[in-house]
Amino acid sequence: MAYDQHGRAIDYLRISVTDRCNLRCLYCMPEEGVAWKPHAAILTLEEIENFVRIAASEGFKRIRLTGGEPLVRLGIVDLIRSITSMPNIESVAMTTNGILLPKMAQELKDAGLSRVNISLDTLDAEQYAHITRRGNIDDVFKGIDAALEVGFKPVKVNAVVVRSLNQDLLAYARLSVDRPLHVRFIEYMPVGGACGADGLGWSAADTIPNEELFALVSEQARAAGLGELIALGGGEKPEGWGPARYYHFENALGTVGFINALSRHFCEECNRLRMTAEGALRPCLFSDTEFDVGAALRNKDEEAVRAVLREALDSKPDEHHDKIGTERLMSQIGG
Ligand code: SAM
Ligand code: SF4
Repeated sequence: MAYDQHGRAIDYLRISVTDRCNLRCLYCMPEEGVAWKPHAAILTLEEIENFVRIAASEGFKRIRLTGGEPLVRLGIVDLIRSITSMPNIESVAMTTNGILLPKMAQELKDAGLSRVNISLDTLDAEQYAHITRRGNIDDVFKGIDAALEVGFKPVKVNAVVVRSLNQDLLAYARLSVDRPLHVRFIEYMPVGGACGADGLGWSAADTIPNEELFALVSEQARAAGLGELIALGGGEKPEGWGPARYYHFENALGTVGFINALSRHFCEECNRLRMTAEGALRPCLFSDTEFDVGAALRNKDEEAVRAVLREALDSKPDEHHDKIGTERLMSQIGG
């Protein structure tokens, strides 16, 4: 097991497999003019595999593939098949916008992917097209159906809540009632600026702190006759639950979670390291401090890879210290 300087066990690796995406969410990337990393700068699938194999031997057990949109990376299914067959790897999960899931869910499941988090910030078709600038919400609905049908468990649906977008929170919470869907409200974070130019531009006023969000959802649910949000105990949380607080409505098949990255730090429980698509290790989402493991991977220098990994682990800060903004966009870090 790998530990950092603050005594935290670090066994969770989040890998951005591409900085590219088939959507352009307002809060994540500008509509035009993103300087994509050249293909030659992006780690090959073999280099990613090698890194995971080495990280697994250092105690990493759980992998999440993200991006950009991980499903647009060619060869992603082969990568999953290879990682899931490695000794010491307990689970491989993915965060995806779900657009390509209707086509790919079965092969992802067959390759050994354990679970998916699907990002969907609204249930309204027009608002979805506005937020994503090019997405068709029906594709995501079909993607959710496909994820349930092929048997991913749990299927989580993530919504970033932005005050000025006025999302319908109740409609979202209702998703958890009739199907085993675990909906999670995520605080809007000041990552990447966030997308000032033609995007939303982050402001503190646009982040709804989780306490307030919880009160809003509870009040609307009560008024609509859904009842109270009941807190879940440890054993009832969906597998791979992460840093969220979970609730459910009585007799609901799914749960409602609140991820409070900003308002109530979960830094003391932090168990993760991130790697960008070109092989930069990031000890903290909110910090621009990075360690280049890409060069060592390209040189197939295993000792150097281990040394950079150790250095990155030793550099994990105790907390994010309310830092605002990062040089990289969220799509480049891998949210
Ligand atoms: N494309 C995939 C997707 O959208 O699920 C994976 C990459 S995306 C960067 C990962 C997650 O980061 C998504 O759930 C997205 O909503 C979230 N995200 C992006 N920018 C964010 C921000 N400024 N604050 C909070 N979450 C953000
Ligand atoms: Fe693409 Fe995900 Fe960013 Fe949306 S949040 S632009 S889907 S990477």
